[in-house]
Amino acid sequence: MELLFLLIVAIAAIATFLWYRKKSSAPTEASSPSNRFHAVTIHMPANACPAVRMFESTKFLAKEAPRLPLENCTAPRCQCRYEHYDDRRTEERRESSEAMKYEGQQRRERKDRRKG
Ligand SMILES: [Zn+2]
Repeated sequence: MELLFLLIVAIAAIATFLWYRKKSSAPTEASSPSNRFHAVTIHMPANACPAVRMFESTKFLAKEAPRLPLENCTAPRCQCRYEHYDDRRTEERRESSEAMKYEGQQRRERKDRRKG
């Protein structure tokens, strides 16, 4: 009986391990297609150069962001850096607009079903 219990625990542990591995590997896979929406903002220190202050709270696509330090950066040692994150807002907007489309189609289907 004890052996059976141990076997179940071992299987559960392996399953959990595999599930966890699968789960943890998922973000890396998902990050590449969403790179199109990869966005950056410029994180600047309190004494940031005036050149970079223009871009305060501006969100760039990673490929469109200005190079740091900026060409006209006046700081002796530029401490500006990129803040990276996936632009989820853009993705959500796309999804919701698509979801609305689907909803419309579903309603149409329902009407047809009632007719027939
Ligand atoms: Zn700077």
